[in-house]
Amino acid sequence: MLNVPSQSFPGPSSQQRVASGGRSKVPLKQGRSLMDWIRLTKSGKDLTGLKGRLIEVTEEELKKHNKKDDCWICIRGFVYNVSPYMEYHPGGEDELMRAAGSDGTDLFDQVHRWVNYESMLKECLVGRMAMKPALPKGMLPQSQVTDTLAKEGPSSPSYDWFQTDSLVTIVIYTKQKDINLDSVIVDHRDDSFRAETVIKDYSYLVHVALSHEIQEDFSVLVVENVGKIEIVLKKKENTSWKRLGHPLENHNSFIPKKDTGLFYRKCQLVSKEDMTHDTKLFCLMLPPSTHLQVPVGQHVYLKLPITGTEIVKPYTPVSDSLFSEFKEPVLPNNIYIYFLIKIYPAGFFTPELDQLQIGDYVSVSNPEGNFIISQLQELEDLFLLAAGTGFTPMVKVLNYALTNIPSLRKVKLMFFNKTEDDIIWRSQLEKLAFKDKRFEVEFVLSAPTSEWSGKQGYISPALLSEFLRRSSDTSKVLICLCGPTPFTEQGMKMLHDLNFSKDEIHSFTA
Ligand code: FAD
Ligand code: NAP
Repeated sequence: MLNVPSQSFPGPSSQQRVASGGRSKVPLKQGRSLMDWIRLTKSGKDLTGLKGRLIEVTEEELKKHNKKDDCWICIRGFVYNVSPYMEYHPGGEDELMRAAGSDGTDLFDQVHRWVNYESMLKECLVGRMAMKPALPKGMLPQSQVTDTLAKEGPSSPSYDWFQTDSLVTIVIYTKQKDINLDSVIVDHRDDSFRAETVIKDYSYLVHVALSHEIQEDFSVLVVENVGKIEIVLKKKENTSWKRLGHPLENHNSFIPKKDTGLFYRKCQLVSKEDMTHDTKLFCLMLPPSTHLQVPVGQHVYLKLPITGTEIVKPYTPVSDSLFSEFKEPVLPNNIYIYFLIKIYPAGFFTPELDQLQIGDYVSVSNPEGNFIISQLQELEDLFLLAAGTGFTPMVKVLNYALTNIPSLRKVKLMFFNKTEDDIIWRSQLEKLAFKDKRFEVEFVLSAPTSEWSGKQGYISPALLSEFLRRSSDTSKVLICLCGPTPFTEQGMKMLHDLNFSKDEIHSFTA
């Protein structure tokens, strides 16, 4: 929703402009960029037609506003008049019209749950949906619907706490075995202590205002075989606590992850280093009193205020180098998050990110994504197909597989770029291939110079069938793909045509 075109990149005929299937970006008219939209929202123009009044909207009323020039959409109980936004929507007017005059929350969540619509559409807010009258017999009110959903999913965790003179330990009983240090995210800020545990597609939240002060550092321990998480807090004063604290929003709730908002914390830019002519390694430091480890294969959202509107884009954390996982960790708790980010001069977000000075802040969300580490278990052949910054999810997958999967025989990366100068971490990849005989890398360039003697062209069935040789007929295989959407979509189709099954393919998408 937020990627907005400008004229220079990709070229007018580039396939990156319009995806071949699924949702796509639609070329927008001149003067309809995100920046133009932000300007319009700041112009003082009445965008709702209600002269600043907020109203209660009934379902009947909502239904009436279902035309392009009079289009209201409800998202999470708030109704927006999106007609003025139509021409600015990168997904196109028809995509917005799918939710015209109705509750668009599910559609919105499917496509871009992470987009900060509250900020983007604040001038279009018409009001809230009116409370529904009592439900007819047999229908469940919303709170019970959530309960029912939770019952269909994993059983709800619970928590308890206990104390010694100097410590308070919060224990979360997840009742799940596949829990690890990535599963829990803890943020202690001012009056709010927040511990979110992710269990499959659900989120369990402990959210309280602690009754007494604690020290900045705490530890998080996981007893994996019983699914128990312990968060050990250090008291500031050795007094006895009568209670843990008072409950804050959604405390002790267990709800589908898609129904929770994304939580952000402000991270400080610690370093920024050129990796290629246009791609930089950004290092962000988590705030004190935070425990956050981004699981392998998942991404986060970065948020920056750009001319007064909060803009959000997804990025996939990497390690600081391809060799970092082989070193002893420098710090017991990883407080740094690294990103390889390409700066697009005509882009909306990345030039702003590039403007940040060391010490400046950027907000980082909780992780998202559907890659599951168990996809790597007992794997024998891992094939990685990456184009451009589509390399980023491969970094941790590669490191993890080489370090933690004893059955692994072979990891092969086919890395598609325009020119040699665009190849991220080329010398590290070549060193890794030299050091670890299980790893091979092949570069394919779409616009090489005449000196290039390696492979050239685009992803194709011929390239793939030659590259994807199993180490044995029955070997367990996983193929990971990531790059521009059309690259990924075409790659998926080619892999299906080559008879790889769904379980053998993972594509990284938003
Ligand atoms: P945009 O404003 O989106 O523009 C990018 C370029 O495309 C510009 O040159 C612009 O002119 C052009 N453009 C945009 N829309 C159109 C259009 N409709 N028609 C024609 N041209 C258009 N990127 C990384 O660098 N590193 C990562 O780790 C990373 N991880 C990601 C993870 C996920 C899950 C996803 C979905 C994307 C990831 N990306 C990553 C991409 C990232 O989210 C942004 O899309 C990217 O940084 C560009 O943002 P921007 O606002 O600067 O550029
Ligand atoms: P790029 O440099 O423009 O392209 C990399 C290579 O892919 C080039 O050789 C390019 O060829 C080729 N390519 C582009 N479109 C293609 C298509 N339709 N079919 C076949 N080959 C194609 O890439 P980039 O600017 O780094 O962009 C990387 C993309 O990856 C972005 O769209 C980003 O959103 C995405 N990404 C996704 C995730 C995720 O997890 N989902 C993570 C990171 C990045 P030509 O340029 O010569 O056409």
